[in-house]
Amino acid sequence: MKISAAGVGGAVLGGLAAPNEKVSASQDGDTLKKQGEDVYTICSFCSTGCGIIASVNDGKIVNFEGDPDNPINQGALCPKGVAMKQAAESEDRLTGVLYRAPYSDSWEEKSWDWAVEQVARRIKETRDNNWLEKDGDENLINRTEAIATLATAFPNSEEAYLMSKFIRALGIVYVENPARMCVSSAVCADMETVGRGPTSNHWIDHKNSDSVMIIGGNTAESFPNAFRWIKKAQENGGTIIHVDPRYTRTSKLADYYAMVRAGTDIAFIGGMIRYVMDDMEANPQDYNMTYIREYTNAAYLVNPDFKCPTDTLDGLFSGWNGTSYDKSSWSYQADEEQADGIAKDSTLTSTNCVFQLLKKHFSRYTDDKVVEITGVDKAVYQDICRTFAATGRPEKAGSIFFSAAACQHTTGTQVVRAFGILQLLLGNMGVAGGGLNGIAGAGNGLGCTLQGLVNHWGPGADSVRMPSNTEQAIDSYGGNKGRFVSILKAWYGDIDHNTSYNYLPKRTGGSYTWQDIFSAIDKGTIKGVHSWGNNSAVSGINTTAVKQSLSKLDWLIVTDLWETETASFWKSEAGSSPEDIKTEVFLLPAAHALEKEGSTCSGGRWLQWRYKVVDPPGEAQTDAWIINHIMLKLKELYTGQSDCNADAINNLIWNYGEEPVPNEVSKEMNGYDLTTGKLLSSPGHLKADGTTSCGNWLWCGMNTEEGNQAKRRDNTDASGIGLYPAWGWAWPLNRRIMYNRASVDPDGNPWNPAKPVLQWDADSGKWLGDIADGGAAPVNMGGSCPFIMRPQSRGCIFGSGRVDGPFPEHYEPWESPVDNPLSSQQGNPLTMVYETTPPGNSTEYPLVGFCHRTVEHMHTGSVTRRLGWLLELTPKIVVQISLELADSRGINEGDEVVVESVRGEIKAIASISSLIKPVKVGGRTIHQISIPWSWGYEGIATGNTMNMLSARVMDPNTRIPESRPFLCNIYKA
Ligand code: SF4
Repeated sequence: MKISAAGVGGAVLGGLAAPNEKVSASQDGDTLKKQGEDVYTICSFCSTGCGIIASVNDGKIVNFEGDPDNPINQGALCPKGVAMKQAAESEDRLTGVLYRAPYSDSWEEKSWDWAVEQVARRIKETRDNNWLEKDGDENLINRTEAIATLATAFPNSEEAYLMSKFIRALGIVYVENPARMCVSSAVCADMETVGRGPTSNHWIDHKNSDSVMIIGGNTAESFPNAFRWIKKAQENGGTIIHVDPRYTRTSKLADYYAMVRAGTDIAFIGGMIRYVMDDMEANPQDYNMTYIREYTNAAYLVNPDFKCPTDTLDGLFSGWNGTSYDKSSWSYQADEEQADGIAKDSTLTSTNCVFQLLKKHFSRYTDDKVVEITGVDKAVYQDICRTFAATGRPEKAGSIFFSAAACQHTTGTQVVRAFGILQLLLGNMGVAGGGLNGIAGAGNGLGCTLQGLVNHWGPGADSVRMPSNTEQAIDSYGGNKGRFVSILKAWYGDIDHNTSYNYLPKRTGGSYTWQDIFSAIDKGTIKGVHSWGNNSAVSGINTTAVKQSLSKLDWLIVTDLWETETASFWKSEAGSSPEDIKTEVFLLPAAHALEKEGSTCSGGRWLQWRYKVVDPPGEAQTDAWIINHIMLKLKELYTGQSDCNADAINNLIWNYGEEPVPNEVSKEMNGYDLTTGKLLSSPGHLKADGTTSCGNWLWCGMNTEEGNQAKRRDNTDASGIGLYPAWGWAWPLNRRIMYNRASVDPDGNPWNPAKPVLQWDADSGKWLGDIADGGAAPVNMGGSCPFIMRPQSRGCIFGSGRVDGPFPEHYEPWESPVDNPLSSQQGNPLTMVYETTPPGNSTEYPLVGFCHRTVEHMHTGSVTRRLGWLLELTPKIVVQISLELADSRGINEGDEVVVESVRGEIKAIASISSLIKPVKVGGRTIHQISIPWSWGYEGIATGNTMNMLSARVMDPNTRIPESRPFLCNIYKA
């Protein structure tokens, strides 16, 4: 391992470093014999964002190792990171364009010129033949519903931004990326609870925790180098709690492990909330009651008509009309004498205050009831309650860390609402070592989503949501108008922004999510799909139905590194009959992350810059090149046309030459003062009068007159708590911990002086430390509360914005072997069912199935199943079952088994161990099994796709699928 010369000398690299400036030295200070030029890059697999140094000689990678100066990974790489170089060297990569004609059983090789022309013509023809200018109410909608984009989570942010600009200019409204399937419920819940969707803290900050509760995830394997910081918390005297149906490497390293039945997280956390509230009454000195009273809505008085399930509403809240909720009773009482017009009880004792209503609501979640629902060991559960509740002291901090397993449920939004409520009660938001840390797994999943690669957001997320048919004027953006106008100036320059606003497509309702796309394909509405690094034939739900949908398309464009299962869905290997499938398929070869430069955003919101290491193989091109050339061809085809909103294409600023330069694109994203031509330094400077441009306000400040901040490599940390403010850049505004004004008391003094995130300096009237969230003074000096994106800037324990309840309530999964022990309301009453097959019954399918991924394989496995080093470690799909289940079914270790659900069946190899155990629920034994989901029929190593078993049922708030758990059965093949 190398250590930097700067580190040896006691100094640090400062400012902006270009690639190849690094000098490597051995541990005794001697310069190593250099094998090639060193290039800095960032791992493209998971969202930990590990730094890598690739040494290149004569166009080949001759050395590949972790970047020791990168504060996130400090030189360490997990097996995937090490094997990443094999992706650039693989002989299996696509090196030229491939085309599959209708009803053909084979690919044809084509040129880029041909492909760009044909793809652009398909897009134009489909768009123009299916153009919707106005709706039935004469609202201008300027959209096509005949084209969908299934976008990706792996390209650099600059490429994702160009993709977003391209898609919206064409009037496409069906746009989704894997974030919908992964953690959209977390975003929705966090926005309701604390105001913003992403992780509040960052990876390194976990070292500051007194307790980290990992629930619904296997961090040690899914984010190995991020887990190092959780381990650091343990080394510092903190605890790790792991809650999961499966005993994993995370469980092994945890202080407490709770084995639970899949799909019961709300009951588990609900019981913890009940424990905390009971303990708070007995021992208020052990909790930060000032935080709860001053920074949350706990003291707010709720409408006396509001009723919760405890009020004998049997699993429902007031307002239920049989199909939806009338939310009029989910409101506050008015008090005109209060500055905010809301009645409050600062003693928190009124029966109608949020605090007491919460207590009443969760009073049913006793230890015994939690044990009955979840199957957890009671003594372990009580230990966990006590341990995590201890982070409620003002000087303590606890983090909740979760990922897709917590989110992919028909109750997914309310699961994460429960996490947030617990964190607000314990005063754990905004502080070092605290937070709600829901992690999108993919390398740049956060960076891509925030460029607007989801149907409802523009670049910059919710405050610049894509307009609806009723938002005919840009004034509907109110205080965010400056942000939206600045996007329009970046995209349409001198065109008046009121005119260019009307170029953009207007949505009607919210039915444009991932599953809605496949439903619209089935109905014949969508005729063409561009699948951009997206492998729905493996990641989609009920993949048999996914492939049937793809076969109904007129055309499918797949841009990827390899021939994926989605690209080859029509092949007989996929179980299809090519002679019956009309879909034309264009397979465009893309460049890997090592073959291009640009910024990538880690799960902890840090932007870091990748430099290009090697050239792409053959004729493979960067996503930016591909988008650029298709748009240039479209502009050519639309020249002279005026109908079908052609101005949106003809007037689009698209002057990137032969290939967009990432640094220049990032300047467009950052934005300019159009009166001076200077780059902006803060979104606070954005104006609604058209004098500023900014492609994405969240990125404003990233590439300024001071240079590209994502390239910074100064790893000094004066904060002592791991903020590393000059390493890369964190959105927004380089703030490292969100809601950080909650880390101080109302006078501006840190709750925990040993780990201060902020400190108010009364002399200067300024904050010291991290970039203060919102910037306002402490509350006692006239400043606002810290959760500035929520009404009254308070954290919302009671939240009326979600469709299925202001508090979380336990419901059973759509398929469950258990009658809900808490109420007669079996499942979420608002579950969205797209599945055409009725749910499986627990007599035929008595087992609870769920999925996982391993350290060696990433998501659909389209990359990792082609990398030899990883395949040596994990060459086959292996289903984990318990000793007891194996015994009862006569299955031996290594046997081939069939796992079946009502929707299909797969084969796998049995792995029998005590890592998974039956759980006792209400006196019954429930067996659970776990299947990795990274397998498909393409690649060097192949295996059946787990998602053949899962059901198309969705959370009603975000339409995230309940890809787990499901009912299944298993037997020897
Ligand atoms: S896969 Fe994740 S943990 Fe592993 S090296 Fe890459 S970024 Fe780091």
